[in-house]
Amino acid sequence: MFAMVHGGAGRYLPEETPMILEGCRAGVGVAWGLLSGGASALDAVEGAVRVLEDNPLFNAGTGSVLNADGIIEMDASIMEGRTLRAGAVANVRRVRNPVSVARKVLEEGRHVLLAGDGAMRFARACGIPDYPEERLVTERQGRRWEAHHGTVGAVALDASGVLAAATSTGGLFGKRPGRIADSALIGSGTYADNEVAVSCTGLGEAIIRTVMAHRIAFNMHRNGDAQRAAEEAVAYLAAHTVAEAGVIVIGADGCFGYAHSTPDMPVGWYSAAGVTTAMRC
Ligand code: ASP
Repeated sequence: MFAMVHGGAGRYLPEETPMILEGCRAGVGVAWGLLSGGASALDAVEGAVRVLEDNPLFNAGTGSVLNADGIIEMDASIMEGRTLRAGAVANVRRVRNPVSVARKVLEEGRHVLLAGDGAMRFARACGIPDYPEERLVTERQGRRWEAHHGTVGAVALDASGVLAAATSTGGLFGKRPGRIADSALIGSGTYADNEVAVSCTGLGEAIIRTVMAHRIAFNMHRNGDAQRAAEEAVAYLAAHTVAEAGVIVIGADGCFGYAHSTPDMPVGWYSAAGVTTAMRC
């Protein structure tokens, strides 16, 4: 069993680092607790991301950044490796935990990605109540002029050897209304199969153009080295775009890796050896 989370590639002020790492520790702790109790990798990544979405320090769920119209539109996705089942939502508003709506899309199985009003109607039909928008907007985001960190993601390996990944974001501060992040796109921001689970963070447009999460999976299939696959994908993105990004990766044998081209990327991982957090590689 293994669980790992990230809190978004970017630049962090030294004074916010302890709280951000504490948030990662809480998220990965929930994932580990679920795995230890026999829960699936899917439950573990959803549980971890929900905790991070509820933490106003991260740009996902509560604390999401505002778009150019001053409103919150969120994106999230989740995938299970054994069955390749996946669910995602884009441009959702008034939802407390977008990752759980993505999970409902996965469970229903009819579609992979629902957007906007249709996604919100689906959430309500699944019994997920509307959440007041003003509770998602924190004072910090209202004041914020530049924000490029704080997306959250999780990867997990459960006791039966199944992998899963999930990612959730408020997107980029001041983005055009309707813009969709890599975090909603299977293969770009999130991917899991029998051998690997990946969650990406960074400039979504570049992550989409390099199909980053699937690129890492492809590299893992070739050489089975999680750290090398993470570094190669980040280097490829840096070489072919002017953007920065970060990734967390785990393999079915419990190997893991992470890499980022931003100065910082908070991560936390939990194994039988206990919990570890770090702000950079
Ligand atoms: N990937 C996210 C987006 O493009 C942002 C991030 O990960 O920081 O919206």
